[in-house]
Amino acid sequence: MNARTTVRVPAKVNLQLAVGPLRDDGYHDLVNVFHAVSLFDEVTAEPGAGTTVRVEGESIEGVPVDGDNLAARAARMLAARLGVEPDVSLTIRKAIPVAGGMAGGSADAAAALVACARLWGVDPTSPHLYESAAALGSDVPFALLGGTAVGTGRGEVLAPVETVGRFHWVFALADGGLSTPAVYAECDRLREAAGVRQGPPQASPDLMAALASGDAEALGAALHNDLQDAALSLRPSLAATLAAGRESGAIGALVSGSGPTCAFLAESEERAVSLAASLAGAGVARSAVAAHGPVPGATVI
Ligand code: ATP
Repeated sequence: MNARTTVRVPAKVNLQLAVGPLRDDGYHDLVNVFHAVSLFDEVTAEPGAGTTVRVEGESIEGVPVDGDNLAARAARMLAARLGVEPDVSLTIRKAIPVAGGMAGGSADAAAALVACARLWGVDPTSPHLYESAAALGSDVPFALLGGTAVGTGRGEVLAPVETVGRFHWVFALADGGLSTPAVYAECDRLREAAGVRQGPPQASPDLMAALASGDAEALGAALHNDLQDAALSLRPSLAATLAAGRESGAIGALVSGSGPTCAFLAESEERAVSLAASLAGAGVARSAVAAHGPVPGATVI
């Protein structure tokens, strides 16, 4: 048993998000190349009575502070699987943008699983953690794993990808979020309106080759998000954000996941810092932050 455990957990960007046709169960088959980046939330777990959550941070509007918080749901799910009482007081310090397409809620859920496992004296490699993560949502297992990985199925079946070197990113954060289900629905609507018959999603060989060789230029050219048109349709101002990043020297630009965060790849750390300053100055984003990837998944600190 430990008295207090803090876990640091990264945000993700999708290097490729290939969305298959709508399935009968309402989900889509995906090929989702996840990449963990150095924008972190921290979740602290301490002994408590029942499951309680406190959320701290600058832009935390819309984050539930009751049992609906994904971190609280994760704690209850793990406790139920272990047959222990879900007694834990959770404090979340958020830096990952909320509803920003960077899987912040899923990250907090993964962090809560690792923190509670430690608090309750459970082996961190216990299969209960991965099984709970997969049951909580398709982005949660990747937040446990980190690095770079290809997710298939609904995104929860993960294969780690070996990469060379460090990639430098800038994230342009938008005011307000976009609802992930609304963006998928818009994607389906746009495809139907255009008469697109979508085939099964495939991983991009160019993207995989760029990751294997550490070639940032090639990676920038291979970035692709099938949800981007839908995010742009719901939030047309993102087109100006993407254009501003390209004009300021980004070697790749795309909407992150379901948006509205935009991700830009830079040639170097220095270029990322100056790109972040240009984007912040251009008035096309609430703020812009430089980060790098890949980084490890949920880690006790
Ligand atoms: P994804 O990239 O996985 O689609 P996202 O990054 O767009 O997700 P999140 O920040 O994970 O979005 O949150 C989406 C919604 O989930 C929030 O608007 C909020 O209502 C709810 N939520 C529940 N728990 C959390 C949490 N710990 N942090 C953030 N949002 C949470």
